Amino acid sequence: MCGIVGYIGHKCARPILIEGLKRLEYRGYDSAGLAVLNDGQVAVSRAVGRIANLEARLNGDGANATIGIAHTRWATHGGPSERNAHPHIAQNGRIALVHNGIIENYRTLRTFLEGMKVCCQSETDTEVLVQLIGHFYKGNIEQAVRDALHEVQGTYGIAVLCADEPDRIVVARKGSPLIVGIVGPGEYIVASDAAAIVQHTAQVVYLADGEMATIARDGFRTTTLENVPVTKEVQAVEFSLDQIELGGYEHFMLKEIFEQGQSLSMTLRGRLNTREGVIHLGGLANHTRDIARARRLIFTAQGTAWHAGLVGEYLFEDIAKIPAETEYASEFRYRNPLIEPGTVVIAISQSGETADTLAALREAKEKGALALGVINAVGSTIARESDAGVYLHCGPEIGVASTKAFTSQVAVLAMMAIQLGRRRFLSQPEAKNLIDALARIPGQVSAVLEQSEAIRKAVEKYIHRENWLFLGRGYNYPIALEGALKLKEISYIHAEGMPAAEMKHGPIALINEGMPVVFIATRCSQYEKVLSNIEEVRSRGGRIIAVATEGDEHIREMAQHVFYVPDVPEPLQPLLTVIPLQLLAYHAAVLRNCNVDKPRNLAKSVTVE
Ligand code: GLU
Repeated sequence: MCGIVGYIGHKCARPILIEGLKRLEYRGYDSAGLAVLNDGQVAVSRAVGRIANLEARLNGDGANATIGIAHTRWATHGGPSERNAHPHIAQNGRIALVHNGIIENYRTLRTFLEGMKVCCQSETDTEVLVQLIGHFYKGNIEQAVRDALHEVQGTYGIAVLCADEPDRIVVARKGSPLIVGIVGPGEYIVASDAAAIVQHTAQVVYLADGEMATIARDGFRTTTLENVPVTKEVQAVEFSLDQIELGGYEHFMLKEIFEQGQSLSMTLRGRLNTREGVIHLGGLANHTRDIARARRLIFTAQGTAWHAGLVGEYLFEDIAKIPAETEYASEFRYRNPLIEPGTVVIAISQSGETADTLAALREAKEKGALALGVINAVGSTIARESDAGVYLHCGPEIGVASTKAFTSQVAVLAMMAIQLGRRRFLSQPEAKNLIDALARIPGQVSAVLEQSEAIRKAVEKYIHRENWLFLGRGYNYPIALEGALKLKEISYIHAEGMPAAEMKHGPIALINEGMPVVFIATRCSQYEKVLSNIEEVRSRGGRIIAVATEGDEHIREMAQHVFYVPDVPEPLQPLLTVIPLQLLAYHAAVLRNCNVDKPRNLAKSVTVE
């Protein structure tokens, strides 16, 4: 959730830490802090709000230090205040720690520490960990961290500094990602996300859960928490710096919306054979037979990825004829689900670190399901723990509100459904037709994006309305949910999405004069029914914003605003119909002066439960 950066080398640490924090700011931004080791002392700076506030706080103290750790926080325990900001410091003032995750037994540990006359200064769960490390410290910081972690329940990615061992950073992880970047001889950068590392090096080592590393200028050593040495493979980071920079766009979200032609081509690249009408998904090669024989498929995810899963449910039942359902990972993991033989669970997560989705995947695996991952971040925990899977390859997604990852998730699920369909009842011509249409999608995205300004103008008319409805049917029902979620998360306007027919069972009572109602009304098997739903809203004074199929002039007579998407086969429509809704949410947020890339209370990659 939050961002962690650490540096050890021969350069001044502070500018590197600040730069790294800025790259991670999308992961948490209610407060930030850093600690460096300087002349045998820990020098700490903390500030509420953005990294720029922290930067403004820095003084000469510690400016030349060449080792330090830093953090941008997404508060779980204790409000966003300077006192609660990380790094937290042990009572003796000699040890500093930054932490991502939640220490679940912090109350018990706090009581224990109080008995030892160690008092916590903050309201966070994190501080008990550094106090515990201080309590166990007897001249070996690595051992003290190990001892403290044995007492801890919960999740963590941590980085620790000790003034009495000024040549090392100790890091450890369980449930929160940590990566060690090898910059050059005697120089390392650690971070919770490769975005803070790529500027310095492409050579990284991903720590696995239950592992720790001690990083010194003469090299680093990785072990398990039980001190068993682990040999790690050095891997190359997949993405480059320009992929995580704004490149002339005002916001990452806008950049990522506009990138979707390209990101979808990257997702499809090498996987579609349009000549022969075949799909090739290397990551599933050893399991296609088992998946095609599945008796039941369960998609599990949270948020936008859950909406992609819902599209997946329609795709798999329609095209592959395999019974499918979609479950919130947070519910699935705790409700003791029945997993019969022949069940395949597909976890969907952009980051591959979503705490609930990871836990659901583990639960499913333990109960004997074949566990697959549809993930963007290469090397992430879900990617490593699943039996097989398909990467999105859509490039890093920085905008907190997911856009391009969603379309790539849907594209991957469509490819999977077609591939499995061919092993079941889907005929070759039907498959070829879908594959050809899929191959054309990236080129069709621009026709939708061209309407961005028209969408902005339409949104402007309703910008003071506090309630919106999003309605769709069939494949576009999940898109109605996604459109409402996008609007809520970045513009703070209340919106609800639902199947268009469900409106009559209650929500229609909300419709009053001038209420904006967004319909996804493309040409599809339920087109006529959607038109009737539009009439129902119109006759109650609602204003209609419709997403329709190019060439549909009839709908202009019914709707105040129409945005068009190219005509594509029904199962692939979500790939295009979601784009006007992403733009709608984006423009609404900008018009309301909301911080699009840093929406309040939200953070990218929810690695806490
Ligand atoms: N639970 C810790 C806190 O609230 C860490 C939060 C984070 O991951 O940023 O301070």
